[in-house]
Amino acid sequence: MTIHPRDILKDYGVSPKRSLGQNFLFDDNILARIVGLAELEKDHSVLEIGPGIGSLTRCLAPLTKSVVAVEIDDRLIPILEDQLQNYQNVTIRHEDILKFEPSRHFDKSYSVVANVPYYITGAILRHIYDFSELSPDLAILTVQQEVAKRLIAKPGKMSLLSTSVQYYAEIEMGFTIKAGSFWPKPEVDSAVVCLRSRSNRLIETQREKEFFRLIRVGYSQKRKQLQKNLRSLGFPRDYLQASFLRSGIDGSRRAETLSLKEWQLLFDELF
Ligand code: SAM
Repeated sequence: MTIHPRDILKDYGVSPKRSLGQNFLFDDNILARIVGLAELEKDHSVLEIGPGIGSLTRCLAPLTKSVVAVEIDDRLIPILEDQLQNYQNVTIRHEDILKFEPSRHFDKSYSVVANVPYYITGAILRHIYDFSELSPDLAILTVQQEVAKRLIAKPGKMSLLSTSVQYYAEIEMGFTIKAGSFWPKPEVDSAVVCLRSRSNRLIETQREKEFFRLIRVGYSQKRKQLQKNLRSLGFPRDYLQASFLRSGIDGSRRAETLSLKEWQLLFDELF
C-alpha cells in the first residue's frame, strides 16, 4: 500500500508547492489503472513528467526497460532517490520538462506517462508534440477534466488546443479521477486521456509551420467568421473567396466547426 504523500513529505520537512502544481496521487487502484492504459512491455522506455515523490514511478519501473523521471523541484530529488533506490532502471533528472529534449534520452520510440502539473498542461503538450525532435508513440496524461473534454472535442466544439493536439495524435478519454484522490485536494476533478501519435500526418513536415499559422489565425477571434479572421493572412479577397469555394467550406463558418480534414483542404487551396 502506498504511504500517504503527506507522511512522506513530512519526514523530509517538505510542504507541497501550489505554484508547481503539486497534487500527489495516493490511490493505489488509480495508479494501477493509469499504468494499465500505458500498455507497457519489457522493452519499452517511459518518460515520466513530474514524478513528485515517485508513487507512479514505482508502478511503472517493474514493467518497463527504463523510466526517465523529470522533476523540477530540487526538494523532491532526495525523496525520489530514496523511494526509488531499488529500481536500477529509473533515471531521475532534476530538470524543467520544457527544456528536456527526448531525442537525447531515447533512441526511437518511447511513451509518456504523467500526472501533469496543471499550470503548464498546454506548454507540455506543445513541447512534446511540436518543439521536441522525437514525439512519444503513446502518452497517458492525467489532466484537469475540463481540459480532457476540450482535448477530445469534435467539430462544433473544437478549439486551437484540440485542433493542434488532434493533428498529432488520436485522443481517447480514459477515466475520471475525483479530486479527493489527490493530496492536497485540487479544486477540480481530473481525467486520464490517451494520446496515440498518428503515423501519417495530414501535412508534410516542411509545411506544418504554415499550416499552424493558418489555424492560429483562424482561431484568432473565436466568434468571428473564418473568412474575416483569415483576411489578416494578407491574401487578396477574391483569392480567399475562391479558395473557400474550391475547398467546399462556407467562409461564414467559425473555426470551431472545422474538422482537421477541412483545415487541410483549405490549407491546400490557400498555400
Ligand atoms: N507524479 C506525482 C503523482 O502523481 O503523485 C506528482 C504529480 S504533481 C500533479 C506534478 C509534478 O510535476 C510535481 O512533482 C511538480 O513538482 C512537477 N513539476 C512541475 N513543473 C514541472 C516542470 N516544469 N518540469 C518538471 N516537473 C515539474
